[in-house]
Amino acid sequence: MTTMIYPVMSRSDMRGLLMRHTEAHVTDALVTSWLSSLAGYSLAECHAAMTAMGTSARRATPSDIAGSCDAARDRAAAPGPETPAFSAPAGALPRPRRTANDRDYHRQAGMRGIRAAYELMGWKRNADHDLARSVACPFCKAKAWVVCGPLSRNRAGQLEPRDKLTRMHPSRLERARAEAARQTASTQQDAKENTR
Ligand SMILES: [Zn+2]
Repeated sequence: MTTMIYPVMSRSDMRGLLMRHTEAHVTDALVTSWLSSLAGYSLAECHAAMTAMGTSARRATPSDIAGSCDAARDRAAAPGPETPAFSAPAGALPRPRRTANDRDYHRQAGMRGIRAAYELMGWKRNADHDLARSVACPFCKAKAWVVCGPLSRNRAGQLEPRDKLTRMHPSRLERARAEAARQTASTQQDAKENTR
């Protein structure tokens, strides 16, 4: 049994998107990989992002498109103090403080959007998968938001099979946990300073 991470887009949505915007030979494997990398983003968002990229969409990677969708969500959320990209109960989606740098902000916005989409659809997600995905993989070098590659031995000869449940390299999850702990600590520090 494998753990399925369900996409927001259907296979035919993704196939159409790839055929419309790229020159790729659209195989089943390509559709699967893009669906996995863009889980949590809607067809409309991806279409808008790829349209905005123009001809460079032909060479865009899923992480380029995810980054562009995150930036659009951020812009959409910017004008008002409480305008989450997805309409979900306000208490369920705390807005991150703007004190983190932009990169962290976009990462958090993306994570929030994915969680909200899955909650709305009643789909199950694996919390460790989400967390691991928020950072780049130190082992297979997958960028943030891109799922780990099937690599189990790196150039240095180290062996690290992917976790069967999260489909991520265990060292990626460790890195993400360390980063989350660091962020929590710095947020608490900010809060302390603001009350002085
Ligand atoms: Zn990896």
